Formats: sequence, C-alpha cells, structure tokens
Amino acid sequence: MAGAGPFFVGGNWKCNGTKESISKLVSDLNSAKLEDDVDVVVAPPFLYIDQVKSSLTEQIEVSAQNCWIGKGGAFTGEMSAEQLKDIGCKWVILGHSERRHIIGETDEFIGKKAAYALSQDAVPGWDDIVVAYEPVWAIGTGKVATTVQAQEVHVAVRDWLKKNVSSEVAAKTRIIYGGSVNGGNCAELAKQDDIDGFLVGGASLKGPEFATIVNSVT
Ligand code: PGA
Repeated sequence: MAGAGPFFVGGNWKCNGTKESISKLVSDLNSAKLEDDVDVVVAPPFLYIDQVKSSLTEQIEVSAQNCWIGKGGAFTGEMSAEQLKDIGCKWVILGHSERRHIIGETDEFIGKKAAYALSQDAVPGWDDIVVAYEPVWAIGTGKVATTVQAQEVHVAVRDWLKKNVSSEVAAKTRIIYGGSVNGGNCAELAKQDDIDGFLVGGASLKGPEFATIVNSVT
C-alpha cells in the first residue's frame, strides 16, 4: 500500500441476510482476531443496521449502502444523510456499479448525493473519503483483476485526484480495490503500492474469510 492512511477493508453485504444469518456473521466477526491498525467497516442492508450496530465489536464500524440526494421528506423508500447520522452511521457507499447499472443512477445523481452527504457531515470530508475501483466484470464473477491491472488503475485514479483536487488529497486518499476479492487473492493485491484496501462483496458474508482479508496487509 501507498501509505495513504490505515488499510481500509469494507464489507458490502448488499441485499443479503436474515436476522439469524446476520447474527451468526456478527458473532463470527466478534470472535475473529483483526489487526488493530486496519479500518474495518461493514455495510449491512438498512433494515439490519441497528441490529448490527448494537451487537458488533467497536473495532468494526457500520456503513449504509445508499442514501438520498438531499434532505428527507416525501421520498418513499429512501433514507436521508441526516437519518444515517441520527442513528450513528457515519459511512455510506455511494455510486456502486449495481446502483448504476440496475437502478440507473448517473454520475450527476451520485455526485449530488456525495455532495449532500458531505454537507451533512454524514462523512467528515476528504480525510474520510475512500475511493473504490471495481471493474464491473470482476464483481461477483470470481474473476479478479490481476495485481498489475489493479495497480495501474489505482495509479490513474490517484493521478486524477492530483490533477483535479490536489497533491495533498491524492496522497492521503485511500483507493481500494473491489471485485471478487477473497481469502486466496487478497495478500498479493494488498502488496501493491497503490492498493490501500478492499471493498468485498461475497467473501464479506463469511466471517473467517473476511478476517483473512482484513489481516492481509501484514
Ligand atoms: P464481490 O463484490 O466481492 O462479490 O465481487 C464486490 C462489490 O460489489 O463491492
């Protein structure tokens, strides 16, 4: 990793789980030995955020998987950044490719969501923004990017930040890789200079394997 801050591993549980399976997953995570200096965040489906927050070890933070583009109100089925903040959820995943391709969210719509979430301190600013690179062909397919492919794109993303935001932000922003990361391929990917962590889908639903991924930075 590039020294952009603590290694960051996010578990995106997507639309998976029941009260029972989530309780088992939380208990597996609570009993796993996780490296202290890794930032670990899991994103359960909204319905279970409270259950997870109240039972999960404090070493792991909780994220939402989406939020509305502005203040709450008459928006059936949505939840606002203020509501996430109210329940103590300080992370949110925005712009996941499944929301782009399946739900039809555009760059502009996602940009508005991110700007609004930031304005509400749903996340505190560039210090806590984490950028995920996920090749769509690698998501949920079992086909992981090669270490060279991933490193190349992470460098390009960092360059973009340098040119469009600032060198300081480019140096400190964590750029994480996602797309079929698992217990077997994480160690090699984690060695790449510009891979600062992972966004994990399928393998985050298995506590022991997710712990292996969290600990892959060592
Ligand atoms: P995957 O999903 O690990 O199951 O490929 C990653 C993601 O979509 O965040």
